[in-house]
Amino acid sequence: MRGLSVLVVEGADVAFGTSSRSTRLIHGGVRYLEQGQIGLVYEALRERARLYTSVPHLVKPARFLFPAYSGDRLAPWKLRAGLALYDLLSLYRAKAHNHLGPDATLAAEPMLTADGLLGAVQYEDAVTDDARLTLAVLQSALRHGASALTHARVARVSKEGDTGYAVHLEGGAVARGRTVLLATGPWTGRKLLGEPGGDLLSLSKGIHLVVRHEDAPVRAPVVVQVRGQRRILFVVPWGARTYLGTTDTSFEGDPGRSGISADDEAEVLDLVGRVLGGATLHPDRVLSGWSGVRPLVRARARARPGGTVELARTHRIVENADGVMALVGGKLTTYRAMAEQAVDRVVRRLGIEAGRCTTATGSVVEGRALDAAELSSDPLLADLAPRHGPHARDLVVRCRERPELAERLANDLPYRWVEVHEAVDHEGALHLDDLLRRRLPLALTDVHRGGAVAQRVAEVLVDARGGDASDVRAEVERYAEVVRTETGRPPTTT
Ligand SMILES: Cc1cc2nc3c(=O)[nH]c(=O)nc-3n(C[C@H](O)[C@H](O)[C@H](O)COP(=O)(O)OP(=O)(O)OC[C@H]3O[C@@H](n4cnc5c(N)ncnc54)[C@H](O)[C@@H]3O)c2cc1C
Repeated sequence: MRGLSVLVVEGADVAFGTSSRSTRLIHGGVRYLEQGQIGLVYEALRERARLYTSVPHLVKPARFLFPAYSGDRLAPWKLRAGLALYDLLSLYRAKAHNHLGPDATLAAEPMLTADGLLGAVQYEDAVTDDARLTLAVLQSALRHGASALTHARVARVSKEGDTGYAVHLEGGAVARGRTVLLATGPWTGRKLLGEPGGDLLSLSKGIHLVVRHEDAPVRAPVVVQVRGQRRILFVVPWGARTYLGTTDTSFEGDPGRSGISADDEAEVLDLVGRVLGGATLHPDRVLSGWSGVRPLVRARARARPGGTVELARTHRIVENADGVMALVGGKLTTYRAMAEQAVDRVVRRLGIEAGRCTTATGSVVEGRALDAAELSSDPLLADLAPRHGPHARDLVVRCRERPELAERLANDLPYRWVEVHEAVDHEGALHLDDLLRRRLPLALTDVHRGGAVAQRVAEVLVDARGGDASDVRAEVERYAEVVRTETGRPPTTT
């Protein structure tokens, strides 16, 4: 968008890393207020406001309920003070917070444990689909002339003379450019960045669990305080499901295979269960889940021994002796601001004239926004719009030409077969897990539901990409292994 020529190289699928494993909130981060990170909260709230208009179908405001119980660290008066500051930092662009007494809190959310309840605050933040938000940003980049390679892992980066770099891909191909910016999240380390990558990051794992909505039928996202710790969990309604999370534990190992342990699961169910007394929370009721690794910048850390909870969520741009840059840390919410600063740095470094950054006001998606009347008149459009925005209109046309594509993959979930074809034809899905984990979060909504359609979806994929029955089998096996590793639950595949 600023006139540079850009190649994006992704080692796995778009949003394979942390960006498809978050709590899926576009938020200022109420808890960072307690850590005194006013600048971070201000920036995140400003970006939230921008995302409401630049990608409205994927960033939906919600009224969060934040209760306080006797013995909790944050008493109602502290919550009110904190949320007053939150409103101020958002420059009153969102609906202001309000507070509720115990009875009104229970009326707002009957699932809550009544014993010890002191009251609550309600405030605005937003919920997103992290993987599709990342995809939408990449698709926007492609429309503006960028190129992208996925499933292309970088083995090393080397300097070539005074003016360029060679990016060596596994398998031998080389891409050349005048500058290289690593955006490798928790994978940013010595291998690609050399010395400065050595102890740059502290990795922290966070998991989420998914249950049927009727097992935890919260009306709006609920914030859960953790006794004796400066952290919170979220319980987020998600259509026919509710998801719960997250944990915050130090992690070592491959961030792509962090997985959910029985201890992680017990911790989340126990902490949420104390506050959500009306919910049916038991390991047998968990349908699926996901696990991600936070790339927390260590240099500005204020870590307590053994913990990552207090590490700053701010980002940094780091450069090694060869001039290879890395953009690390931050939040999904602040991706645009981080990108703006990184591109400014690239432009300065190259000493070139470049256009002004326009992403603060522009749109990430193409087309006229869908309005309420349009959505209420067409259930198919209403199912597709939350993931595809204005492009859902084109998918509806495709379904009119081939009505079988309008069928749902699972009857209580909104995903339609036309989306499988769209993912293969236009969204760069190369493997079954790209499709059933990130383009459509079927594997996350229920491991077995994903498994039930795996074979048929793999046939569509292999049909389009070329291959035979053994490729279909290999895709299904690969998918089962990916889901088992992440959720700890092997899917039954048919
Ligand atoms: C549990 C959890 C909850 C979170 N919740 C929220 C939230 O609610 N809201 C929010 O705003 N933020 C949240 N975050 C933070 C947010 O998700 C991350 O800050 C963000 O996604 C990081 O993006 P990234 O691009 O830096 O890293 P990633 O998304 O991990 O991307 C790095 C990419 O680099 C690729 N890669 C790595 N090595 C190579 C290589 N050698 N060659 C080619 N490609 C390579 C990987 O495949 C990966 O796709 C959460 C994080 C976690 C873990």
